[in-house]
Amino acid sequence: MAMDMSYFDEMEAKIPRGKIRTRFAPSPTGYMHVGNLRTALYTWLIARHGGGTFILRIEDTDQGRLVEGATDVIYRTMAECGLTHDEGPDVGGPVAPYIQSERRDTYGKYAHLLVERGHAYYCFCEKTESEEDAGDFNRAADPCRSLSLEEARARVEAGEPYVIRQRIPEGGTTTFHDAIFGDITVENSALDDQVLLKRDGLPTYNFANVIDDHLMGITHVVRGSEYLSSAPKYDLLYHAFGWEVPTYVHCSPVMRDQHNKMSKRHGDPSYEDLKAQGYLTEAILNYVALLGWSPRGEQAEREVFSLAELAEIFDIAGISKSPAIFDIEKLTHFNALYLRAMSPEAFHAAAEPYIRRTVNNPALDTRAIAALLQARCERLTEIPEKVAFFETLPHYEKDLFTNKKSKTNEEVSKRMLESAVPALEELADWTQESIHSCLMDLAAKLEVKNATLMWPVRIAAAGQAVTPGGAVEICQILGRDECLRRLKVGLELL
Ligand code: GLU
Repeated sequence: MAMDMSYFDEMEAKIPRGKIRTRFAPSPTGYMHVGNLRTALYTWLIARHGGGTFILRIEDTDQGRLVEGATDVIYRTMAECGLTHDEGPDVGGPVAPYIQSERRDTYGKYAHLLVERGHAYYCFCEKTESEEDAGDFNRAADPCRSLSLEEARARVEAGEPYVIRQRIPEGGTTTFHDAIFGDITVENSALDDQVLLKRDGLPTYNFANVIDDHLMGITHVVRGSEYLSSAPKYDLLYHAFGWEVPTYVHCSPVMRDQHNKMSKRHGDPSYEDLKAQGYLTEAILNYVALLGWSPRGEQAEREVFSLAELAEIFDIAGISKSPAIFDIEKLTHFNALYLRAMSPEAFHAAAEPYIRRTVNNPALDTRAIAALLQARCERLTEIPEKVAFFETLPHYEKDLFTNKKSKTNEEVSKRMLESAVPALEELADWTQESIHSCLMDLAAKLEVKNATLMWPVRIAAAGQAVTPGGAVEICQILGRDECLRRLKVGLELL
């Protein structure tokens, strides 16, 4: 009796066609590592560049690896990064559901269809999961491969547990094409009759992936090159079904050094870690885009791109075959560029929580402090330590008052502060302009270099040698009373 094909025909009819469709298909592991973020970004860029559709699919077939709250990390990261999806578990779409665990029945049906067509077979052998995982399963030795379909079906009907295995052609080779790596040919004898459907009726990861990519109309499959070795088996599956093979785009890994991939286990940062280390989302995205992709033509020398600009110029041909090395210094450089390019308001908004980690006094103006920091920090996390002196005058030694370049020593500094205190006390208003001209006039009157006066004032006001901002800005932010109190503390020390 011919198989009823109406289910499959309906599924085919639902597949959107005619436009680029890409998907990011993370497994919910609980964090977004840099390589994953890059895959998401490239996948999104290919869709946006081509005016296509970007889909989010959750690949949770491996129930043993499920992590509580893990999908939230995915949604949150994608939203923060602006990698908006057009279809997905939360927004729905024409080929829903978009969570693999909700598509379980579909995979079973397709596995049985493949059996029917001779490209897969029921296997009743008892094999442990570890034998399976190690891949040391010898196809020629599997008696089930040569069972007749009638015989196998009878055993299935009798209730014998089974898996469904892919029937890899006996001899010959399989050639598939990858957009980055070109044509790759493998001997079929090197491929194992991988399990497609497990004893519990759940699909294996590799099978679900192919079924979904087809049924979701995916035109470009972007993923890490660790999947390259499974690609021939994917290819054989597409052909077995008579489906069009999507464009494969396998990206080389992001490495921590010449020899090792980045890994959470070795303490390499995830996207969330980088955020916590004070990096801006925009800078992370910009840097990650260039990890393994480079602009060409007129833009070849350019480094700074917004997401919209990337979407405009991104092309698959710019993706590199060689692994990229993640360089935190380079990311820091990007971050500094992005911090500097922000509007003062935006920078203040980003910096304020960090300023508030050490500066709690409400009289201290965080906007003025932020203005000092914007050109002087590479990561937001440097801020708390840099500005702590505003809150509390650090304990310091009087040798800080000695500075050759400013021509100061302890004795000179004492004289400077003795004149500065009454001059500042008399100021009518406490603005940067008034403080500035007061100190300039004073230096002129005392016939010393400006620096000779500014150095001791800044040291006494801040209590440390390195400060964001100069004497005038620091005095202004501290306010008259606190500033004068600190200058007097300095005098006492001297
Ligand atoms: N779920 C896979 C992963 O998280 C993605 C594989 C693919 O994109 O095909 O690595």
